[in-house]
Amino acid sequence: MYCNQCAQTVGGVACTKVGVCEKNEDIQSLQENLIYSLKGLSAYVYHARELGYEDPEIDAFIPRALYSTLTNVDFDLNRFVELNLEAGKMTLKAMEMLKKAHIEKFGEMQPVQVPTGTFKGYGILVTGHNLKVLYELLKQTEGKGINIYTHSELLPAHGYPELKRFSHLKGNLGKAWFDQKELFSKFPGAILATSNCTLIPKPEYADRIFTVGITGLEGVRHIDGYDFTPVIEKALSLPELPEEPGDYVLTTGFSHTNVLPLADKIIAAVKAGKIKHFFLVGGCDAPGQDRQSYREFVQKLPQDTVVLTLACGKFRFNDLDMGEIDGIPRLIDLGQCNDAVSAIKIATALAEAFECEINDLPLTLVLSWMEQKAVAILMGLLSLGIKGIYLGPKPPAWITPNVLAVLQKNFDLRLTDNPVKSMAEMLG
Ligand code: SF4
Repeated sequence: MYCNQCAQTVGGVACTKVGVCEKNEDIQSLQENLIYSLKGLSAYVYHARELGYEDPEIDAFIPRALYSTLTNVDFDLNRFVELNLEAGKMTLKAMEMLKKAHIEKFGEMQPVQVPTGTFKGYGILVTGHNLKVLYELLKQTEGKGINIYTHSELLPAHGYPELKRFSHLKGNLGKAWFDQKELFSKFPGAILATSNCTLIPKPEYADRIFTVGITGLEGVRHIDGYDFTPVIEKALSLPELPEEPGDYVLTTGFSHTNVLPLADKIIAAVKAGKIKHFFLVGGCDAPGQDRQSYREFVQKLPQDTVVLTLACGKFRFNDLDMGEIDGIPRLIDLGQCNDAVSAIKIATALAEAFECEINDLPLTLVLSWMEQKAVAILMGLLSLGIKGIYLGPKPPAWITPNVLAVLQKNFDLRLTDNPVKSMAEMLG
């Protein structure tokens, strides 16, 4: 029996899959990984394009890479390895483009403390990743007695001067994306979902949540363009929020532009033995108690360590007060997942200062993941030749043992179901 797509059989029976090749499970694995990377890459391209930024090289790569996954186009395993790394390179380029767009539109990020409670008045809670949407909403709600709150990956918005200047951008509520159903049920105001990681709403708040842009939820009002009048009218028709301070304040707004000026201090602290190790702990968060191990990991790190973080994985531990080392914060929130470029710039600058390679720095990457953007970023880090990355808490389900073996051999990729168990190995 043969597949009518490519005349192949899988285990003696006809292949019924269209879209990924089942004849060779390693090629299938790499094709799936490529498709996930392209999805993540496309998200960054989409947001940059919204702000008026494009890159013809990335635009040409995406259809070429997708085309390569068509049935019976390419059975060369090595070419798929290369295509995955190329997707990583394009992701780095896209993140760089988006960072440039954010800085040119909203200013250089600045460290800022963000309240986590509510203020008396009407409210709109904005979730997702889209800074342009947040900006347009802030402009349209100015002077209307409505306070704007961020959720999850929009926390770093508070660090941008052009967004922070709106005094009604009040604070951040909740943690990573998956607390939406509980948080939104309790939040009495209007809600706006701006990007991926939006959950199907509960009936309690289905009539006060809106979607915009790429986001869509069945039965939920969608905003075309950037006219948020229906969201504003809904917010004004709902009860006011109470004055209710949060239990902690979050610090965000770091970037290579405000961390690298500390380079002399950082180098001096390293040379004096006051900083022994840097960690990048971040990535995509997901439900489950196993992810609490990332909090435990950060809590248990020795006092002579510094943690850089980004993306929503940080909500497992970003309420911790980790103090400073000679004026250098021990917990540095670099922003959204696409701000991984800042972490790379910091690592590159430190490597130059210490006249070594990034892989020779006392730096360990501890990534949590589940989402397509995380796949794209991982490919980007591997395309730079960064080795010894710890990935967890679950292995990627689509990666076959052979593909994993290649990643382990070439990049020393390490899987960990609990980073606490791997801490001694990381600290060397
Ligand atoms: S960091 Fe990842 S999991 Fe978290 S909101 Fe962004 S895409 Fe979703």
